[in-house]
Amino acid sequence: MMKNINVKVIIISVAGAYRKGKSFLLNFFLEYLYSLNKAQSKDADLEWLTDDCQLHGFHWRAGVKRDTIGIWLWGEPIMIQSITGEMFAVLLMDTQGTFDNNTTYQQCMTVFALSTIISSVQIYNVVDNIQEDALQHLSLFVEYGRMVMEQPHDFGKPFQNLVFCVRDFKNAEEYDFGEGGDFLENVLQVNETQPDEIRQVRELLHEYFEDIQCYLLPHPGYKVAERQSFRGHVKDLRPIFREELKKMVPNLIAPHNMKAKMVNGKAVTCRKLVQYFKEYANSFDG
Ligand code: GDP
Ligand code: MG
Repeated sequence: MMKNINVKVIIISVAGAYRKGKSFLLNFFLEYLYSLNKAQSKDADLEWLTDDCQLHGFHWRAGVKRDTIGIWLWGEPIMIQSITGEMFAVLLMDTQGTFDNNTTYQQCMTVFALSTIISSVQIYNVVDNIQEDALQHLSLFVEYGRMVMEQPHDFGKPFQNLVFCVRDFKNAEEYDFGEGGDFLENVLQVNETQPDEIRQVRELLHEYFEDIQCYLLPHPGYKVAERQSFRGHVKDLRPIFREELKKMVPNLIAPHNMKAKMVNGKAVTCRKLVQYFKEYANSFDG
């Protein structure tokens, strides 16, 4: 990391309820980024998620014991060159599942708020649908983050990119898998006839995030969902799931699609990030 201290960073976080495939999802990002890094350094074509590939990285497993505690950064930044030739350090962040039996509401809120502040892309992982209570929790958590942050108002919106990731999406007759712009618009629409609390949640998200996106993912196949049987072999994934992941990951982070983490209007470098992380972790303690 030392020689890269002045490189700008991109931080991708995945947050949401416990045991819903967050860590599993991050392994696709890891696979993509390492494959891309390798292809770029050899000046070769990018190949990833091939038939013989085995995923690994963030620990995922079946069962109910808690695996990821608090906030978890992948051990090293992965260096990626953008289409303009600039290098970026990409960091992946896994978080503790909210609302498991061992975590208080306050802890959930802290993990979610802190990961939203630190990241440039916050992926909010939900299952089936975007339910009203998931939106309610989300808005409380980011409101809390906003309060702790105390960013002056003249630097624009406090947070960057929010991505709803809907797992095992079932309404594929009405909405196609993949980028769910229409679906999201329908969920987040604001109108005068809505009860205040429904409207306020939506207004707050639009006010706090520069960009909000949505991905609707199919079920990954029984080998992934069934207890213990998945060992990371890409050929065991349902083909449609694999195809959607192959589109989604580069849409969120690819050489033509790289936006640095910004704080108070300035791009964050590796050097700054360490300082920044410490500062915010401290302000949550106090
Ligand atoms: P986390 O607690 O949210 O990080 O969840 P994990 O990534 O540890 O995954 C929990 C379990 O769900 C594992 O057994 C995974 O194989 C399984 N899983 C992962 N992704 C999906 C998905 O999209 N749908 C279903 N039904 N199961 C999944
Ligand atoms: Mg996990």
